[in-house]
Amino acid sequence: MISSTTDNAPGPVLVVCPHCHSPNRVPNARLAEAPSCGRCQKPLFDGKPVSLGVDHFTAHISRGGLPVLVDFWAPWCGPCKVMAPQFELAAAELEPHVRLAKVDTQSEPTLAQRYAIRSIPTLALFKGGRELARQAGAMSAADIVRWTRQHLPA
Ligand SMILES: [Zn+2]
Repeated sequence: MISSTTDNAPGPVLVVCPHCHSPNRVPNARLAEAPSCGRCQKPLFDGKPVSLGVDHFTAHISRGGLPVLVDFWAPWCGPCKVMAPQFELAAAELEPHVRLAKVDTQSEPTLAQRYAIRSIPTLALFKGGRELARQAGAMSAADIVRWTRQHLPA
């Protein structure tokens, strides 16, 4: 869809597709209207965290315009399993203003090393490639949402 009209809404946000990882320009006002990807046609937000590996991590963290909340976890970690459904509930709550992502530190040791993840689960909040905050330990959905909103830039 090409739009050449100007309106008074704030500029478009670069939303990276969770399915094909293509960047999409979405007008701010349309974020909440279930936008879909211009390339793969799938929804840009489906209320679920996106699993990220080293190949696509930078696209989401640095190029995307949305803050990204990352859950660093591992399959062998009990508290991570307990938190997984809570993290999904938080995704449904925080989208489309925050992208929620998961990094499996066992299959993605490069990312775990790059961000010096010492214990899991660890949540880290990024905006424009910069880490804003991090928190180790499992949290409930309500706590994840509250913690994230607390650390988002105004
Ligand atoms: Zn796509």
